[in-house]
Amino acid sequence: MNHNLFDTFAAKMQDRGTANFITTPEGAEYSYADALAKTERIAGALKGLGVNPGDRVAVQVDKSPEAILLYLATLRVGAVYLPLNTGYTADEIGYFLGDAEPALFVCMPASLESAKAIAAKTQCPRVETLGTKDDGSLMDAVAKAQAFTGIERRDEDDLAAILYTSGTTGRSKGAMLTHKNLRSNSKSLAEAWRFTEKDRLIHALPIFHTHGLFVACNVILTAGASLYFMSKFDVDTIITAMAEGTSLMGVPTFYTRLLQDDRLTPELTANMRLFTSGSAPLTAETHQQFEQRTGHAILERYGMTETNMNTSNPYDGDRIAGTVGMPLPGAEIRITDPVTDTHAPLPQGEIGMLEVCGPNVFKGYWRMPEKTKAELLEDGFFVTGDLALIDERGYVQIVGRDKDLVISGGFNVYPKEVEQIIDALPEVSESAVIGVPHPDFGEGVTAVVVLLPGQKLNESDVIKSLSGHLAKYKQPKRVFFVDALPRNTMGKVQKKQLRDEYKDIYSDA
Ligand code: AMP
Repeated sequence: MNHNLFDTFAAKMQDRGTANFITTPEGAEYSYADALAKTERIAGALKGLGVNPGDRVAVQVDKSPEAILLYLATLRVGAVYLPLNTGYTADEIGYFLGDAEPALFVCMPASLESAKAIAAKTQCPRVETLGTKDDGSLMDAVAKAQAFTGIERRDEDDLAAILYTSGTTGRSKGAMLTHKNLRSNSKSLAEAWRFTEKDRLIHALPIFHTHGLFVACNVILTAGASLYFMSKFDVDTIITAMAEGTSLMGVPTFYTRLLQDDRLTPELTANMRLFTSGSAPLTAETHQQFEQRTGHAILERYGMTETNMNTSNPYDGDRIAGTVGMPLPGAEIRITDPVTDTHAPLPQGEIGMLEVCGPNVFKGYWRMPEKTKAELLEDGFFVTGDLALIDERGYVQIVGRDKDLVISGGFNVYPKEVEQIIDALPEVSESAVIGVPHPDFGEGVTAVVVLLPGQKLNESDVIKSLSGHLAKYKQPKRVFFVDALPRNTMGKVQKKQLRDEYKDIYSDA
């Protein structure tokens, strides 16, 4: 049996024939049959360029249907797809090419010169370009290539992709994802979220990240549904697309942005059956406001690059704001003691390290055996680095990253608990709580606050209003006001950046 993930997709693509697979607002369109035929030609070109099974194909390109077809063709030839954030600089690309040693680097046409220079330094043998209009040197090669109609044989534990983690400390790590990892997760998600051939997913996420690439595209391919493929998030385009769309997969900022638009009503979203959120915490407030405005309860799920998706709120049943739901079929979760490092499970309801096991969990970090050993335990559980608890109904609540935990005067302060109370102040839009070095306490609890437009509040107002709600050691010692919190493309607040910025504030205390 061929365990190549593309084998599963190809059967579905064949079956769907002339049904629509992908459409863009600009008018590009592929039926499933056209898409399948094009993967044969791209696969032929990849073979002609010397890409063999097991080779890495590194790709830093803007979003387009052809970029997805390149991903599929890479699987088809048994190679390992390695997408790179379009925001990475030449230096960063140098690190990734040096580390992953791809057989081919596909870059944006505008960065060809710098890509060639980096490739020469890192001994990457081939560089091709891919533009957003079915253009670039790779597509020239495709036009001349002989189609490859086979599907290279792969075992279930062979690599399908390497995704580098964003890495808040040290170098990024390449998470090795197998055909089994991706297949099992897309099947679980398609079933859990009831995706069928009738679905049309509004796709506004980047495709260099697990959310936009695997959660979104693999689920659609598994179900034989269709994609409305936007080059980037844009409120107007999403609002227009909702008339024919059935679902949207978003990061929390998609929903806060949509809520700012008066056109968001139950009528506008009448054709939609599912809104999901993930990659960063969705506030209970956003969840509730969205439900009030549209009648739809956003379904929040939790996952990460290394593990694919682990938990989801139920499709039928209560979608509880502030929780990420229950383990997906096949995924097993435990909450363990983060202090002793024994990985001993804690009693239900206690906050600890979230560990996960299952066919969704990756194979390890590329060429980092020590890091792999430290985080992927012998019993198969992966130490996620997320602190969480499981409530009495079995729903998981993520409390924050282990690295973001503040330890002040020897006491643990979970930033989320403090943030929730600050966010509930009527003048506040959002906040981030961080720990920065403090001469007496080790770390000082520090709040960075964004006010709602036109609102006024000062540092002592915030501290005073928290005093009845939080123990003294949890109260911020300092409060700073900013116009916006720093976020990455997936909507995650960049706490490391904030810690760097405020690192000296207590040095004279
Ligand atoms: P990434 O590997 O970029 O997908 O980031 C994974 C991390 O994002 C997880 O380890 C969590 O810290 C965070 N994350 C993902 N989904 C959620 C969620 N629904 N709520 C809170 N944090 C989340």
